[in-house]
Amino acid sequence: MDLGISGRKALVCAASKGLGKGCAQHLARAGVEITLVARTAATLDATAAEIRDETGVDVRVVAADITTPEGRTAALKVCPEPDILINNAGGPSSGDFRDWDRDIWLSALDACMLTPIELIRLTIDGMIGRGFGRVVNITSTSVKAPVSYLGLSNGARSGLHGFVAGVARSAVRHNVTVNNLLPGTIETERLAYTIASSAQMAGRDAEDTRAQWLAANPAGRFGTTDEFGAACAFLCSRYAGYITGQSLLIDGGAYPGTF
Ligand code: NAP
Repeated sequence: MDLGISGRKALVCAASKGLGKGCAQHLARAGVEITLVARTAATLDATAAEIRDETGVDVRVVAADITTPEGRTAALKVCPEPDILINNAGGPSSGDFRDWDRDIWLSALDACMLTPIELIRLTIDGMIGRGFGRVVNITSTSVKAPVSYLGLSNGARSGLHGFVAGVARSAVRHNVTVNNLLPGTIETERLAYTIASSAQMAGRDAEDTRAQWLAANPAGRFGTTDEFGAACAFLCSRYAGYITGQSLLIDGGAYPGTF
């Protein structure tokens, strides 16, 4: 399917691995010029080369921490007028909320809420002016089904969802949409960390926990970054201009609610 976005420019945050990489790969296959951000230059360069070799599109890299003002400035210097913004960063740590002081909360808020809001603030008026924009925030199923040991994620990401619900309605008239993608269990390094944390909190073995999670998922498997990236690319397509303010679960049906 031609997504109708060939030649557009995308800023894809936290994209040398995992979900961000899956999104970048699918956008590049749709002919989108990509700027990838991640902190580790070697992985970033390898991912950029892989995407360039496969698709032939222009891929730029910014080795920076996107949760810092300097990182965001560097990213926007390389990609000053993105048509597509994929907000993403590493997830906050797990644990017991009794151990989290104000600084820990501020760092989770910076990564999961304030950084995406700041990048939206810095790019959305340009999108509105050009009459096309797609923002996708990678968040988590934890905003709909909280996980006790992921309290930082539950809380900080919910704040972002609240903000997005408002701004999405104010921009769609200009063909600028803002949506959230909520991964459940997609096979990445972060998933391995989450499984290990869950196992540790429960005093269980990580392999047993993984097997239990696999068995409990209605799909009987974890999702892939390829599936996740394809959903992201569709939300960024020309055809998704009437979809905004939505939170799409990508979890194999694990969330048990009707709505
Ligand atoms: P991942 O496989 O560990 O990949 C994380 C990517 O983000 C890497 O490229 C990493 O590169 C980059 N990154 C991390 N922190 C960054 C920062 N501050 N600035 C710039 N780049 C940064 O993780 P993932 O599974 O794709 O997860 C992405 C997000 O989705 C996380 O917030 C995670 O909590 C959330 N999530 C994932 C799942 C899942 O099933 N996988 C479920 C729920 C929520 P560097 O380390 O080199 O910077």
